[in-house]
Amino acid sequence: MPDVFTKAKRSEVMSRIRSRGNRDTELALVRLLRKFRVSGWRRNQNIFGKPDFVFPKARLAVFVDGCFWHACPKHSTVPAGNRAFWKRKLAANRSRDRLVNRTLRKNGWRVIRLWEHDLPKRGNPSIRRIKSALLVLGRKATDKHRCAQIDEKAMR
Ligand SMILES: [Zn+2]
Repeated sequence: MPDVFTKAKRSEVMSRIRSRGNRDTELALVRLLRKFRVSGWRRNQNIFGKPDFVFPKARLAVFVDGCFWHACPKHSTVPAGNRAFWKRKLAANRSRDRLVNRTLRKNGWRVIRLWEHDLPKRGNPSIRRIKSALLVLGRKATDKHRCAQIDEKAMR
């Protein structure tokens, strides 16, 4: 079955989905981190797999995975046009994610992957996961002045 888009059109469509989807979900997590007073994170760090958020001192990498691009089990859809292309593409994204996880862990990073669909939820289980990881990693750290200051009051 022929592709419904020309090559140029396809890359335009894809870059639009990618940049918009990523930016929105990343900014949603930025808002949550600020709201719950989680600090010590950086964005756009040059680390393998380009984590969306990095806590350098705790060596914690956080990814916010878009439901479409990372084939979330709840919301993943394969576009009707050119299904074979999309199936291959999304499967490749998933195995890339696994490779990134393995590689980072091998290098001493803790990896958290959050789904785009988890961010708006009340109770913020995403923030809880980040905070408890930081607590565990903070206890392990020999550095007394750990980067991630955790405000317990914000969790109540
Ligand atoms: Zn989802």
